[in-house]
Amino acid sequence: MFEGVVLKLQHFMTIPPGQHKLPPLPYPYDALEPIISSTLLQIHHDRHHKAYVDGLNKAELETAKSRQSKDFSLIKHWERELAFHGSGHILHSIYWTIMAPRGMGGQPGRRTQNLIANYFGSFPAFKEQFSAAAVDVEASGWAILVWNSSWRRLEILTAEKHQDLTQWGSIPILVLDVWEHAYYLDYQNRRKDYVDAWWQLVNWYEVERRLLLAMGGLTPLTLNNF
Ligand code: MN
Repeated sequence: MFEGVVLKLQHFMTIPPGQHKLPPLPYPYDALEPIISSTLLQIHHDRHHKAYVDGLNKAELETAKSRQSKDFSLIKHWERELAFHGSGHILHSIYWTIMAPRGMGGQPGRRTQNLIANYFGSFPAFKEQFSAAAVDVEASGWAILVWNSSWRRLEILTAEKHQDLTQWGSIPILVLDVWEHAYYLDYQNRRKDYVDAWWQLVNWYEVERRLLLAMGGLTPLTLNNF
């Protein structure tokens, strides 16, 4: 029963390569005034966010072409584009949904309050750290309150370049360590030999288990997806 629901949701939410769409703002352009002006919000959403969506679609289509042609000569470039535009799309989508017209956003819910108090000590302490982190972050920067699903608790993270490391919202399933310490003693500079041989070690039972668990950890991009 539960698995059926998960699979149904997963099917509903699967986005084919190159098919991402700019989600509409959940309020009119002037809804956040006077904190954020109508003009700023329109440019930010309609142009900047749209550029991320377009860039992500292009990167996905190009990597799909690479898989077909088996030409991976530009894979480093397209992987970077996937991360930069994918993270931009996901983070902006979330940003729109966690704002509301002034005075309409209510108060922190009980679960939010409890988890924040448990980890940060108090709500003011959380707010102070979050603001300080946001003020000091550089480049394409974000302050992000995250739920760490491995440690079952909150953390404040910053993204200095939101493309580094991730498409935010993704959950790792299968990982390969390619830092030199992982192979140099055995393979020296022949990383490809290590990578090719490594496939014989994969525990596919664990990959399947992790996939099913991750499918329960949804990351909504709009207010009303599900
Ligand atoms: Mn932005």
